[in-house]
Amino acid sequence: MNPLSTLQQSLIAKLADAVPASILLTGTEELERYSCDISGIRHARPLLVARPGSTGELSRLMGSCHRHDIQVVPQGGLTGLVGAAVASHPAGEIVVSLERMDRVRSVDAIDYAMVVEAGCVLERAKAAADAAGCLLPITLGSQGSCRIGGNIATNAGGFNVLRYGMTRDLVLGLEAVLPDGRVWDGLRVLRKDNRGYDLKQLFIGSEGTLGIVTAAALKVFPRPDQVETAFLALGSIEAALELYSRARRECSDLISAFELILRPGLEVALNSRADLRDPLGDRHPVYVLAELSAAGRIDLRGLLEGFLADAGDIVQDGVIASSRAQAERLWLLREVMVDRQGRGGPYLRSDVSVPISRLAAFVADALSALALSHPDATPITYGHVGDGNLHLNVIPPQGMNPNEMAQMIHEAEEVLFEVLDRHGGSISAEHGIGTVKQQAYLSRVDPVTLELSRRIKDAFDPRHLLSDGRIFNR
Ligand SMILES: Cc1cc2nc3c(=O)[nH]c(=O)nc-3n(C[C@H](O)[C@H](O)[C@H](O)COP(=O)(O)OP(=O)(O)OC[C@H]3O[C@@H](n4cnc5c(N)ncnc54)[C@H](O)[C@@H]3O)c2cc1C
Repeated sequence: MNPLSTLQQSLIAKLADAVPASILLTGTEELERYSCDISGIRHARPLLVARPGSTGELSRLMGSCHRHDIQVVPQGGLTGLVGAAVASHPAGEIVVSLERMDRVRSVDAIDYAMVVEAGCVLERAKAAADAAGCLLPITLGSQGSCRIGGNIATNAGGFNVLRYGMTRDLVLGLEAVLPDGRVWDGLRVLRKDNRGYDLKQLFIGSEGTLGIVTAAALKVFPRPDQVETAFLALGSIEAALELYSRARRECSDLISAFELILRPGLEVALNSRADLRDPLGDRHPVYVLAELSAAGRIDLRGLLEGFLADAGDIVQDGVIASSRAQAERLWLLREVMVDRQGRGGPYLRSDVSVPISRLAAFVADALSALALSHPDATPITYGHVGDGNLHLNVIPPQGMNPNEMAQMIHEAEEVLFEVLDRHGGSISAEHGIGTVKQQAYLSRVDPVTLELSRRIKDAFDPRHLLSDGRIFNR
């Protein structure tokens, strides 16, 4: 056990009027666990970590932080990719981890709603919905670690957005503790409620800057009892878009995922694990991993087979999973590609969106621009076609020193964003701005949006004590 620093002793003394010392962690090794998000981009030790067990306890803690001018940053599962959940304030910051507030309070198959505490791991919330015959459709590669509060604060997307929408579309109600300790209670399962401003929308996607979400009422859906997965090869992104458009019309809008993978991405997966095989014999430039799902009386398999038989003019080859295990093997290719693309080192991780109709032109322009500016780098392109959301990542050549690599990543991002601007796209489709994308955001945001955003921040947090410096600076 390391001795407490003077600053830590003074903080504990200040907070002692509000919360028991037992919810405060101060040990060096303990703090290390809360010091870095999964991207590894930012690493900073908080002054201490508070782990409240209830909304009341968090409210008292925040009230005390407000009285004593203590900077706070909320933390969920630390799977965020823009450095927003890691302590970074120059005055020092305490982390509030929601991990002890992790109960699923209810799942109701008449309201088709569930109420979950913010610290609940997404996978557990999904399992609770499943056990009640329901589907919580937020589906992310990080779902074993990310937490509901983090999903709400980042307005998380994922594989099923094209069918069910972003997290924002799934939130019926919220409860949050404000930066001065007051509790804002909007935790309702009402489907329709037009009384005045819809304040919950402000918390969703606010990256922890307006309040700390403590619980959420989320929409759930009938759990699909049929899921069909297909891995398809196409000649171009244009063909993938045509297939997507036809599939929406001809498959009764039952597509729940439509993932694009360019050949270099598939090769990352195939070269990383000896047990993975190319599901198709020949090489193709573009692949789509598509999923249809449905509950009730519908012949989903027949629908998919009939659709693909008619799509022979654009689909070059393909396989439909014949079992759950085979479907999981197909999804594993995508998962391994995401995990291994950077070979464990730094790389440009982008998360951009363009209008769906411009995806093909954007990728063509971006890849040509990157081939000119960084011919030695390897672009890996994949994404959620139905959302116009692409991860066009750039892997530096091996053997670069860390400074050269950082410089290359920065330059490649500028090249990519310049092309994106021409196509009217967004520099952040899913992950948010945090601290990492702040410069790129501020150089693009229009002055009216920025001024209104600053006023909203001032209304919720006039002293900028919560997540100060995320999205924009004071
Ligand atoms: C392998 C992998 C796959 C991913 N796939 C996707 C994807 O498909 N789509 C997608 O959108 N994202 C994806 N992500 C990013 C990440 O998982 C999401 O952003 C997720 O929603 C973050 O949740 P978290 O609990 O880990 O939040 P954290 O990383 O802990 O925090 C993220 C932000 O939320 C704030 N926050 C956390 N909890 C609260 C709270 N209770 N109240 C207020 N603010 C809070 C933090 O301060 C921070 O600003 C992926 C990440 C990984 C590593």
